Amino acid sequence: MYINSKSDIYGIIGHPIGHSLSPLIHNYAFENLDFNSVYVSFDVKEEDLKDAIMGIKALGIKGLNVTVPHKESVIKYLDCISDEAKIIGAVNTIKNNGGSLEGYNTDVTGFMESLKEHGVDVTGKNAVILGAGGVAKAVAVGLALLRAKSIYVCNRSLDKAKELSIHIENNFNIKSREIAYNDLNVLDDIDILINATSLGMTPNTNISPVQEDVVAKAKFVYDIIYNPEKTLFLSYAEKYCIKYINGFDMLINQANNSFKIWTGVNFDKKIILNFLKKKDFVK
Ligand code: NAP
Repeated sequence: MYINSKSDIYGIIGHPIGHSLSPLIHNYAFENLDFNSVYVSFDVKEEDLKDAIMGIKALGIKGLNVTVPHKESVIKYLDCISDEAKIIGAVNTIKNNGGSLEGYNTDVTGFMESLKEHGVDVTGKNAVILGAGGVAKAVAVGLALLRAKSIYVCNRSLDKAKELSIHIENNFNIKSREIAYNDLNVLDDIDILINATSLGMTPNTNISPVQEDVVAKAKFVYDIIYNPEKTLFLSYAEKYCIKYINGFDMLINQANNSFKIWTGVNFDKKIILNFLKKKDFVK
């Protein structure tokens, strides 16, 4: 990659930020498409967020991804946000459109596309989401847009699960309820079970958000974690011969959708996947 005075600058803001695969993905995509652009990481603490966002305009940065903990708090500093971002209440992509900062959420489209790619139809199905954080919100909205029949939200902090389920019922007219981990055994019709917590992520790979008896009741299992490739939660699904996917496709899809918002074109997913395989990030 050749960087010069005409290079367009993109990046990601979050805290901490060291684990992100986004710089690898976007820089390889720029190189592959012969774009004079570069993508860098900015570790931005919560108290510096406003200054960082003002800096986008001042420095002429073309676009940013936004990750934990800024996805919600960033909204107040933007000039406008998309319908998806509005309904989720979170932004993961900012485009600097000639000085006007536009906010988008590509987690939701990334999630929905990953289901389609794996031939998973959730329309009319009963879904259970574990977690009620930022990604769980995007997953819940994705399931609602795909017209799931019911969505149970299970979370350690039950008040957050309740808030999310009320949000889904009010906005989509779909049955949605909060449920405690201890009550999951009362559900006997789980078509799709999704882990949207951070439990099981490297380095804490010996943890699963639920025991295997809960996983065994599901017809399809999805873990939004992509590192490790197969979490303990997914290994339970494998044990019971239940079809499952991890969060890798969602990651690549959300990156590709951000890339399109910024540049007007998509990158070639296969090329990016092969590159990450060579770097040992995917098997
Ligand atoms: P977040 O907003 O911080 O939410 C974390 C969730 O995990 C909350 O529901 C939290 O429950 C739960 N949790 C954390 N520690 C727990 C514990 N010890 N016991 C029970 N529950 C616990 O984070 P996020 O942005 O939603 O991200 C969650 C995961 O998604 C991360 O692993 C991240 O890497 C992954 N992710 C994947 C993609 C993708 O494209 N595949 C994209 C973004 C993020 P409480 O509310 O009770 O704290």
